[in-house]
Amino acid sequence: MQQSPLQLYIHIPYCIHKCHYCDFNSHVRTQPDWQAYEQALIAELEYCSKQEPFQNRQLHSVFFGGGTPSLAPASLIGNVLEHAQHLFGFENHIEITLEANPGTVDMQAFQGFFNAGINRLSMGVQSLDTKELTWLERIHDSSEVYQAFDAARKAGFDNINLDFMYGLPEQSLEQWLQTLDAALQFKPEHLSCYQLTVEPHTKLAARHASSPYKLPDDETSLAFFHSTRETLAKAGYEAYEISNFAKSNKYCRHNDGYWLYHDYIGIGAGASGKWDMKDGGTYRYSNTRTPEKYTTQAIQTGSAINSDESLALQQAAAEAVWVGLRRKGGIDNRWFENRFQQDITAYFQSDLEAWLNDNKLIWHGQQLQLAESGIPLADAIAESVL
Ligand code: SF4
Repeated sequence: MQQSPLQLYIHIPYCIHKCHYCDFNSHVRTQPDWQAYEQALIAELEYCSKQEPFQNRQLHSVFFGGGTPSLAPASLIGNVLEHAQHLFGFENHIEITLEANPGTVDMQAFQGFFNAGINRLSMGVQSLDTKELTWLERIHDSSEVYQAFDAARKAGFDNINLDFMYGLPEQSLEQWLQTLDAALQFKPEHLSCYQLTVEPHTKLAARHASSPYKLPDDETSLAFFHSTRETLAKAGYEAYEISNFAKSNKYCRHNDGYWLYHDYIGIGAGASGKWDMKDGGTYRYSNTRTPEKYTTQAIQTGSAINSDESLALQQAAAEAVWVGLRRKGGIDNRWFENRFQQDITAYFQSDLEAWLNDNKLIWHGQQLQLAESGIPLADAIAESVL
């Protein structure tokens, strides 16, 4: 089995306010102990660098996600990157992304992140409409998005993603397309557009249960989805994944790696990691989620793993199909056979047959991929192998 590229995910769990729809591992603290958090991340990096599956492997991408990584001091970002480079080494042209909240950054902050080694930004914009931003409980308004984007460009960032959300209560398709149009005026290299989902155990879920919001029905959701794809295709963005769009091949290499089933190290509170095992199965772990508990555990022992599991070969193969079908290019059957000992057909012919006969799923040479008409059914198709 050929080793995959190796990725590093670093979780920064702090936020200024917990948005009511958010189900990420994010925590509001007036004064995070950044020094201790940096120490914990570095202790974890040192521990991971000694683990057998990560020996002699350079990093292909690094991603600071959250939470709100742009709240972290640039010195923390720089020190963690310096250790990561020293312990693992960086591949040439490594992609290093930082998620930024437009309400937390100015020119000086962006300059600090750029100088620390960040070469890609992902900004959580979500909307450019004041009412919608207020409903989402975001801490920024639309003018701060313009200022932040301008400051980021001036600081030197030439690879920027903007995250948006559609399907908000009472939002018309026309309103969303106006937002998308305004988003295109920024000329970002990458856009992510997700439909709002009411995740269980969020404040939004509780509010929705007691007094339901008017959310789009299936037909309207489909109209949002298709109009988004059409608008962005016309503007020259490739839908390289179901909700992700890039210009000039500026895919998010890190996220694409998840869909390509690469190995990744996850450090930080609540982060998870995964690697391919020698018998073809997959090992996966998750860290302690509370920042303070995580920090103590990582500093004391170097590891903050709270739970782990091993997937057998068949389960791992199903997982690789499940994530891989999200990509426009789908799954390479030769890679699959090398990784899982048999090809996709040997594992899943009977599970996938109906979708293939219905032309929702197609073979394009050696690539198994969703047909255009299969894209809205991606979840149902992928679940058929699980
Ligand atoms: S800023 Fe992001 S991570 Fe923080 S609470 Fe809001 S949605 Fe969650």
